[in-house]
Amino acid sequence: MDPQFVKSLLAWYGVSARDLPWRGTDDPYAVWVSEIMLQQTRVEAVKEYYERFMEALPDIAALAACPEDELLKLWEGLGYYSRVRNMQKAARQIMDDYGGKMPSGAAELRKLAGIGEYTAGAIASIAFGQREPAIDGNVLRVSARVLGIREVVTKPAVKKQIREALLATDDGRVDWGRLNQAFMDLSSAVCLVVRPPLCEACPVAEYCVARREGLTDQIPDRGVKAGRRVEERTVLILLDGDRMAIRRRPAKGLLAGLYEFPAVTGWLDADGAVREAERLGFMALHVRPLPAARHIFTHLTWEMQAYEIKIAPRGEEYEKQLIFADPAAIEDRYPLPGALEAYASLYGIRIGRRKKEEET
Ligand code: SF4
Repeated sequence: MDPQFVKSLLAWYGVSARDLPWRGTDDPYAVWVSEIMLQQTRVEAVKEYYERFMEALPDIAALAACPEDELLKLWEGLGYYSRVRNMQKAARQIMDDYGGKMPSGAAELRKLAGIGEYTAGAIASIAFGQREPAIDGNVLRVSARVLGIREVVTKPAVKKQIREALLATDDGRVDWGRLNQAFMDLSSAVCLVVRPPLCEACPVAEYCVARREGLTDQIPDRGVKAGRRVEERTVLILLDGDRMAIRRRPAKGLLAGLYEFPAVTGWLDADGAVREAERLGFMALHVRPLPAARHIFTHLTWEMQAYEIKIAPRGEEYEKQLIFADPAAIEDRYPLPGALEAYASLYGIRIGRRKKEEET
């Protein structure tokens, strides 16, 4: 890679850097929070969450001590909840093993829960000024195009090749924190994941092999992606007057520890939904089908059907795992996954937004 490439990219970043709430700080905790939130999540969606999270949990000690429901509520709607669980685990590791101070080296950072090579590189370079590339899918895409790499970019050997090419551009004066952020901005504004990229507006076009050779629609090669499993589900909105039934999901696995409306795997018709309500210990007074909804996770799609069932308890013999609460209390206290937004919104429950926003 031509060292001039880095100079041109940094010059462009100097005038085009996005104004983001986590920019302009070298607080490693702030960099860490933003980087974890940005994994698989759009910048625009992250902004609001980031500010709320930092206000509620301004430092590592506060994160380590936060009760689980409160933590999940702060993350509610952002998805991939293992991210925030791992952050809390790591915060506790930092309190116990590092005296409450984040370690500065990429190798030490990688010993913390949920911090992989990319995040370690981002924190080490942005917060501690270390010479570390932060290579994620975006940097792989831009670099593969610039270098004209036709191999599958996710191969470890290709990643290594890109890392070495990037490090080789350093004349000893490169600010890796800025360079890594410049890559992030270039990949989101110019060298787009959707093809074609905006080569005519690209500050590094003259160094780019893919553009020169007309290969931007073929690079990067991501290899064959594994298919997504489809799970059919039936969601039951059980209404006891104004109150609705929710339950806590298991402590491990998908959406661990979040709350949900009772549901079963498979599609039930209205009679089947009534039988399920009875199995949970209720008498169904009235059944109404609700619109179908879909939620796409990384490796799984939920295809959901749903029924609203007005119920009356049959004595004391109902499912004890269920919690009955009115929609306002659910919105306030119980973190629900964004996967259920289509149904929660029918009852005025907003996922991932707090009442505070209404007041401002
Ligand atoms: Fe990406 Fe086009 Fe720029 Fe090459 S010239 S880095 S393909 S935007």
